[in-house]
Amino acid sequence: MRNDRTSNVDESGIRAHADRPPTHDTDGSTVRIANLEFAYDEGDFCLRIPALEVASGSTVAFIGPSGSGKTTLLHLIAGITTPSRGHVQTQGVDISTLSDAARREFRIQQIGLVFQEFELLEYLSVLDNILLPYRINPALRLQPEVRDRARALADEVGIGDLLGRCPKRLSQGERQRVAVCRAILPEPRLLLADEPTGNLDPASKDRVLDIVFAYVNRVRATFITVTHDHALLGRFERIVDFKSFHSASEANVWPQSVAVQRGMAG
Ligand code: ADP
Ligand code: MG
Repeated sequence: MRNDRTSNVDESGIRAHADRPPTHDTDGSTVRIANLEFAYDEGDFCLRIPALEVASGSTVAFIGPSGSGKTTLLHLIAGITTPSRGHVQTQGVDISTLSDAARREFRIQQIGLVFQEFELLEYLSVLDNILLPYRINPALRLQPEVRDRARALADEVGIGDLLGRCPKRLSQGERQRVAVCRAILPEPRLLLADEPTGNLDPASKDRVLDIVFAYVNRVRATFITVTHDHALLGRFERIVDFKSFHSASEANVWPQSVAVQRGMAG
């Protein structure tokens, strides 16, 4: 496993890297959450996060048991869903103040997303799925150089010979790598990835993560991932453990001294 950065782990389990100063958006944070509450229309799940900040240019792993709200939080940060109460600011914008259409535009233009279920378009080839951001984001130009980079990226993650296939003829691990290529090809400043290596064997996992971190380091992107795989955690500057969050409906009192809170300044 390659890790270009050195790391320190303090007693709270929060990792801090010294060799890459964070880049700064308007306030130095890519994500800022305050007094967040979110409940789905059905069911009694409720996610409550009083405060969470992710510094621009940092790398953070969200871990926690299944059903604790990791995917829900990524969707809130991406503006796919909006909070029931409180605020989620992403790239300096409180995205719940935007219309549905403006939120979609914001997401397309600002965020790279690897969905847990990949969300590939079944009627497009693998190559056209990877190139999709260049078709839906008017700020991106689909130059020949981009196609070359897409092919090179696909080669690097081991799906270079599948570019003409439809997604339904791919394995889960191959679909996952298409989703990763699609998210990182435009080199977004904010990458959100939901268990992006969950279907990969150890060698493919390392190769994909090396490629993702190479881009993240090159453009000083903020990288937030959800993972069940504790073997990956050494690559990340911060670990946010969802066990610290009270996600059950009966949880009315928030613990104030959990590790994730202490890590928020970083
Ligand atoms: P994780 O990603 O940590 O496994 P999720 O964020 O997917 O957890 O889900 C958190 C909780 O919300 C779970 O109890 C799940 O059943 C519930 N949930 C997820 N999506 C929906 C939905 N669309 N409607 C109602 N409940 C949902
Ligand atoms: Mg999930």
